[in-house]
Amino acid sequence: MSTTRLDAVTGGPALTDDEATALRHEAISYAAQHGLLVATESSESGATMPSTFTHAPIALLPTPFPADVFALATRVAPLFASVSDAVSRDDAFLRETLAGVIRADDFTRRVWDIYERCGGQEGRHPMELGVLRTDYMLDAPSGLPLQVEVNTVSTSFMALSTRVSQMHRRAIEWLGAERAYAEGAGSDAGSASAEDVASALARRLPTNSALELAAETLHAGWRAMNDDDARVLMVVQPCERNVFDQRMIEAALWERHGVKTIRATLREIASDAVVAEDDAKTLTYRGARVSVVYYRAGYAPTDYPSEAEWDARLLLERSGAVKSPSAAMHLAGTKKVQQTLASPGGLERFVECEEDVRAMRSVFAGLYALDGEDAVAAVELGLNAPESYVLKPQREGGGNNLYGEALRAQLAKFTPDAPIGSDGDLSSFILMQRILPPVNRTLCLRNGEMQELETLSELGIYGGYLRVGEDVAMNVVGGHLLRTKAASSDEGGVAAGYAVLDSPCLTFT
Ligand code: ADP
Ligand code: MG
Repeated sequence: MSTTRLDAVTGGPALTDDEATALRHEAISYAAQHGLLVATESSESGATMPSTFTHAPIALLPTPFPADVFALATRVAPLFASVSDAVSRDDAFLRETLAGVIRADDFTRRVWDIYERCGGQEGRHPMELGVLRTDYMLDAPSGLPLQVEVNTVSTSFMALSTRVSQMHRRAIEWLGAERAYAEGAGSDAGSASAEDVASALARRLPTNSALELAAETLHAGWRAMNDDDARVLMVVQPCERNVFDQRMIEAALWERHGVKTIRATLREIASDAVVAEDDAKTLTYRGARVSVVYYRAGYAPTDYPSEAEWDARLLLERSGAVKSPSAAMHLAGTKKVQQTLASPGGLERFVECEEDVRAMRSVFAGLYALDGEDAVAAVELGLNAPESYVLKPQREGGGNNLYGEALRAQLAKFTPDAPIGSDGDLSSFILMQRILPPVNRTLCLRNGEMQELETLSELGIYGGYLRVGEDVAMNVVGGHLLRTKAASSDEGGVAAGYAVLDSPCLTFT
């Protein structure tokens, strides 16, 4: 006999235990059939494929998300792509904004050194290729999508998020809950025709084309390079487990666009890649010409365990291949740049249209500098209400931010005029208003185990960007990611083990 669960998943039907279990089986089956997988073993080499897998961490049903909030995040995403590129081309702005960070933080300084050693703006490749994602959380008090961060390097889950969206559509069918979900689109689904139900469902579950966009963007860069025999070089981490998310992009590039991809780690590139000393600075890897470098590694200090990896990064940067991203674009995606853009006059330096500035400003949370003359006031803000802020270093990949007591302890070390890099100096951090999303109930599946959790969600909007010289050849939005984590957890990375992949089920008021 099945018993009805007391709490329905937010926005979903009440499920009996048997129905939830059946859903688990279907979801795992779907994951295996469609590559919604992560490897459970890994290998040092980029080309080696692990042979044991499990399903990716997923939510079994989609999570409600307000349609107007989704629309605003989608509207501003390409504006942030343009601004990131404009920032990356503004040497004076980058230099001034990152001055404190570069002195206090070794990792950012090394990326900056690569930018400078390749000749700064003069030495830059004429093209910039962006596979981007801006992240937002719905701030319950204001009802706005507040921007968590802008990702310009190694944005992940374009393939797996696409599959999760498709899986959720199927999950609703397995439950026979089409009409129940269609009602949320405002139609009277009880008496609606099957066609009306289908179109209401389509409104609620927006099509996710992130995988296609990833391949289209890389293809656009490849085509602009105009070398039919060249390949895309995907720079990957040794011991990567999120291989399906990467391999599906590789497959789409080949099957839809006829472009071949090589996978290699920075270490392998250090030993086996060559840049020709000709005008074109042609890049070859193990004898194959490469025209596009796509980084799925290189964003964290742990990606550079020795000088060899830094040598590889420098070699790629100075090569004639287009990089996704360049060192300058990588730097434009730092949290320090986001904070500076949010300060008075920050956006106006790069955006002429006042309406665009207003829209972009409306998604900024409170962001505060911890270098310069404003640091004293920011430290006081944080010390007075540690629970209301997040302290962020210039890091990517999850697990680096400080909250609550740890935030308080770090801020308490602050000493005005402390020497850069000393304990009392906080130049490498920014302080951010804590966003407070609504709490939902979610059925999460991780390693085959189902758990019903109180959760918070973060929306990512993907973008593809290509600039060739002064001409912006592509700046499009396509696809999204919802990551859902336990409400009790501060951080939100899926790969880092904090969150599950999810999709939004839009709500209309
Ligand atoms: P990373 O580059 O490591 O992904 P993020 O800025 O995205 O850094 O922060 C990691 C996670 O911390 C986010 O996914 C989110 O869950 C949480 N987080 C970050 N900023 C805030 C904020 N202002 N309010 C609430 N949670 C936040
Ligand atoms: Mg993030």
